[in-house]
Amino acid sequence: MSTATEQRTFDSLDPATGAVVGTHPIHDAASVRAAVEAAGEAARWWARLGFAGRKRRLLDFKAVLTRNLDRVATKIHQETGKPMGDATLETAITIVHLDWAARHARGVLGPRRVSPGLVGINMAATLEYLPLGVVGVIGPWNYPLLTPMGSIGYALAAGNAVVFKPSELTPGVAVLLAELFAESVPEHKVLQVVTGFGETGAALAADPGIGKIAFTGSTATAKRVMASCAANLTPIVAECGGKDALIVDTGADLAAAADAALWGAMSNAGQTCVGVERVYVVEGVYDAFMRELTERAAALRTGEDYGPITMPSQTDVIRRHVDDALARGAKAVVGGAASVRPPYVDPVVLADVPEESSAVREETFGPTITVTRVATAQEALEKTNAVAYGLGGTIFSGDARRAMELARAMLSGMTAINSVISFVGVPALPFGGVGDSGFGRIHGADGLREFTRAKSITRQRFPLPGMNLTSFTRTPAELQRLVKMVTILHGRRKS
Ligand code: NDP
Repeated sequence: MSTATEQRTFDSLDPATGAVVGTHPIHDAASVRAAVEAAGEAARWWARLGFAGRKRRLLDFKAVLTRNLDRVATKIHQETGKPMGDATLETAITIVHLDWAARHARGVLGPRRVSPGLVGINMAATLEYLPLGVVGVIGPWNYPLLTPMGSIGYALAAGNAVVFKPSELTPGVAVLLAELFAESVPEHKVLQVVTGFGETGAALAADPGIGKIAFTGSTATAKRVMASCAANLTPIVAECGGKDALIVDTGADLAAAADAALWGAMSNAGQTCVGVERVYVVEGVYDAFMRELTERAAALRTGEDYGPITMPSQTDVIRRHVDDALARGAKAVVGGAASVRPPYVDPVVLADVPEESSAVREETFGPTITVTRVATAQEALEKTNAVAYGLGGTIFSGDARRAMELARAMLSGMTAINSVISFVGVPALPFGGVGDSGFGRIHGADGLREFTRAKSITRQRFPLPGMNLTSFTRTPAELQRLVKMVTILHGRRKS
């Protein structure tokens, strides 16, 4: 790293007070290159440790993280402004995921024999999932530990080294994470952090030594990152935003639904990719649900139950969405235009918001919610599926079978029934979106495989007499034998 680079720094701030939390270097393309190169070497060593060696190190890292839970949560609290309780919850869930990834990597990715089938009867067929080398992680600020660790933890468990570029708003959390990791893995730079602005992330995405980019952020930036990746044909997993809906069906526990809608919409000041942004309530229970929701919303304490808006420019987006909805005839049931008072936004509940409003179609990322009356759950589903995003979603219903049908038909990666965002706490479940919410999966077995390449091996155990198909010495009779076999096996139409 050059001296000039080291001298260029930026501050991370406490969004509630503006106080400087920390000062970090702005890493340029040359520093990123050096980090990726060092990571390449570290990746070879890390891969050689094997599943058992990595599991031991990762479980040790998990224990270090757990013993430093308060320290990590405090840093998250300082840089994002979220309450300590939420920062603690975020850290705890991260630990659960790290444990799962470490313990399941061998079972999911390790070598296994697969059936060779009749044509390959003389073969031993082996499948295994090998690491990609160096994974670049570009992270967001809203869950500065849990979200990037959804990629970092799983990529490490799969045998990769990681270079992590955190959001410019939350570099301190990332630096602390890497420091704690180095306590368990001091030998090589298996997890490194490069800090800076968008250009640092762009340099990481464009680096030829990167095996895959895991990006979390806006859909617009995901497209820019993909363009950078295209130069080297670097694959990408993109976790973008959402516009998640919560459907309240007849027979639902309305108190529980209102409680979930409120927490899903307002916790973390609404800055949650799988946060509830829209609610669709069937006619018969609408008024009762609204009563439950507004009572609870009015009792929320801004600055205590949730913190400030972490990214200052986001208040402009929230204001624009609220103003647009009101101008189109929506009713502010709780709060209103005056609720946006940077750096805080008080709870806003909007009713009768036209479906074409930005508050219904675009990601607001604030403590606001739209509530819309619908005739049936089917109408709610159609409206839910009519936006370009498809990340998560929620269904409250008294009928378990119907709820499952609605969940399956919801155009999203994840759906929670009679609970909200609960899929995040189940490490075996993959997490990711469809449409503008991105593609690829973190978490679960799919999340482990996401950071690997499948490797297939066939080993001939003995030559198959009379069936030497892959040779110029093959006879017409041998080919005929194959056709006969395929015809017997596959030629009959089944009713
Ligand atoms: P961005 O998508 O702009 O940033 C996400 C990450 O990408 C950050 O680390 C950012 O760095 C980095 N980055 C920015 N430009 C580039 C680039 N050209 N190449 C590589 N990396 C880059 O999100 P914002 O933080 O600006 O938030 C904007 C909106 O995105 C929010 O309003 C919200 O709607 C959505 N969002 C969704 C999240 C989710 O969880 N799905 C998380 C965060 C935001 P830096 O911060 O240094 O610019």
